[in-house]
Parts: sequence; structure tokens; C-alpha cells
Amino acid sequence: MKIAIASGKGGTGKTTVAVNLALSLGNAQLLDCDVEEPNCNLFLGFDLKKQEDVTITVPQVDSGKCSLCGKCAEFCQYNAIAKLSDSVMLFPKLCHGCGGCVLVCPEKAITEKKRSIGVIEKGTNEQFNIELLQGTLNIGEAMASPVIRQLQTHMDESTVAVVDSPPGTACPVIASVADMDYCVLVTEPTPFGLNDLVLAVDVIRQLGIPFGVIINRHGLGDNRVEEYCRVESIPVLMKIPYIREIAVLYSKGIPFVEHMPAWKENFREMCRDICEFIPYRGLSQC
Ligand code: SF4
Ligand code: SF4
Repeated sequence: MKIAIASGKGGTGKTTVAVNLALSLGNAQLLDCDVEEPNCNLFLGFDLKKQEDVTITVPQVDSGKCSLCGKCAEFCQYNAIAKLSDSVMLFPKLCHGCGGCVLVCPEKAITEKKRSIGVIEKGTNEQFNIELLQGTLNIGEAMASPVIRQLQTHMDESTVAVVDSPPGTACPVIASVADMDYCVLVTEPTPFGLNDLVLAVDVIRQLGIPFGVIINRHGLGDNRVEEYCRVESIPVLMKIPYIREIAVLYSKGIPFVEHMPAWKENFREMCRDICEFIPYRGLSQC
């Protein structure tokens, strides 16, 4: 089973939920798909080992063959290639690797080469019975989705994969949740939380993925998030209270289920509830 943990914005406790859920289930995979700023390992401290680079193909132009016709620049939707008066200039970080410029070049002057944009790492340790897979986008790179998609090829279909999605509702979020069995949206009971939850719900509904809500820092704000979920028939899967003990553990980078073990059962019970919403059965960890 594949469960994405997402949120309309950052800072709602999405990573906390992902880490504590994976630890509660045990024998699970945790995939940190927040590739611009992966931080699950801040709570786990695994010794991560590099698995592979993530590469995309980008064009290179043989100036000896180029007739400066400009067809490549006309074709490129991303302004990654420009025809100047005496040469063709490439902007590799804008290139999406579609290969179109190669196809339209009448002189066969364009070929493709690989360029690394990120890395996939993996780690386990003896204290925690989970496997962490982490994708990291190289600094200065703009395209997170290829890193996310390659990270997800490491998912083990025979177990539970908990996916920590990027914040927001843009392309990287869609890349991380699109193939999931279920999506948990983490929000907080504030006007900002509600605003971003509404945006996230709109995206997840368009993707047709079953979903529910965790209200983090419950007790902090008002009840408008709960009222919205009631009106929209969205299940509230769990409420994590706004209490000092959890906040202190968070500030120390300690997953709170490790010091408050009753919460492990709460998370497992939540997964049993999730199983009621999707066809998948037989989640042995619950
Ligand atoms: S591969 Fe696609 S995105 Fe990249 S420069 Fe060529 S046309 Fe533009
Ligand atoms: S399409 Fe080919 S020949 Fe034309 S400008 Fe681009 S690289 Fe040169």
C-alpha cells in the first residue's frame, strides 16, 4: 500500500506525520519526496548511502553542422535554446529534456547527453525498523519531478510505502501523489491552514485519489477546518493535540511516537481506517 502525506503549505507537520506513521507501522518504507528540502532524516539520523544519480537528457549542438536555421529555438517551449546571429546558445537548467529540438533539426546537428540533477540515497539503522529512501535535488536545479519519479521506482510493492510529499499544490506534489493508493492531508486549525487545505483538496479530488485529513496542533485555533471537513464529507483521520510534550520532542528532532508509544497504536488504527476506504487489504503492520 502506498500512502502519501501531503499538505497545502509547509510547516503544518507533514514530515512529523510521515516519520511517526512509518515508525508506528514498522517494516515499512519512508520515501522523502520533498526533494528540494528533504528533512525526514533530521528525525532519524540514518547513515544514508548513495544509490544513484538522477539524470535528464539535454541537447548539445555541433556548431560545425548547424546552419543557424533557428528551428530548434522556435520549437522549444521552455526557452532553453536560443539562436543568436552566429551561434546557438543552450540554457541546460531550463531544458525539460523533451528531445523535440533533436527531432526538428534539419542538419542533425543536435545530439543528447546526460546531466545529473539530483541523487537518490537509502538508509536503515538498528534502532528503527524502517527503510528511508531520500531524493535530493541538486542546488540550483529547478525540476523536482524527475527526482521524485525516480525515487518512487524504489518502492517495494509488498510492504507499506509512506511518501512525504513536497508542500504546496504544484507539479512536484502531483508527481509525488499521483500513483498513491491514499493521500493524507495534514493541516492545522487556523484560517491559513483551512485556506491551503481547500486548495489541496481541490487538487487531490481532480486526481481521483481517496483522501482524509489529519489536524495537527489541534486546540491551537478554531473549528473551521473540522466544519469544512464535515460539510465536504472528508474524513478527519486523526487529531494531534497542541501540547508541550510533542512540541519539545519535535524541537529536539525526536519522533514523538518513540517517547509516547500509545501514539503508535493510534497511527496503526488510522491505517486500519484507511484500509476501509481503499480496495487494498491485508496490511500486516496494522
Ligand atoms: S530538449 Fe526540449 S526542452 Fe530541451 S532544449 Fe530541446 S526542445 Fe527545449
Ligand atoms: S535546428 Fe539545428 S541547424 Fe537549426 S539552428 Fe538549431 S541546431 Fe542549428
